[in-house]
Amino acid sequence: MNKLAENLKANRLKVTPQRLAIYSYLASTNEHPTVETIYNHLKEDYPAMSLATVYKTVASLRDCHLIREFNLGEDCNRYDANSDVHAHLLCTKCHRVFDYYGDIDLKHVIYRLKTDFGFETSALDMNFYGICDDCKNNNDK
Ligand SMILES: [Zn+2]
Ligand SMILES: [Zn+2]
Repeated sequence: MNKLAENLKANRLKVTPQRLAIYSYLASTNEHPTVETIYNHLKEDYPAMSLATVYKTVASLRDCHLIREFNLGEDCNRYDANSDVHAHLLCTKCHRVFDYYGDIDLKHVIYRLKTDFGFETSALDMNFYGICDDCKNNNDK
């Protein structure tokens, strides 16, 4: 059994082909897809899978903290299976989302919240909005 299937089992989620497919897709991409994107990506291989199934599946994966759900002020949520602490950069032009691990030491902030306030952080959303390098360069031409 692969690691993703083990993660599902450890969270008492039944390992179904569809569930595994959705989770694997999320674990393999850093595009932070929406439910719609996940559905469109998988529907060819899983014709029996409905949009409702995708909604239900991401909700249960989120509830087990296997994936992260976040909203960048768009009309739909996005999903991320990357559990490392990181910030998101949303390009308001091409609507791509980039991961950022750089200089803001989020792990240190979490540590300080715990030591200074006794606050136990379970999730964190840090979002930056702007124009990505590609879009900026395309504009210059
Ligand atoms: Zn862009
Ligand atoms: Zn991310």
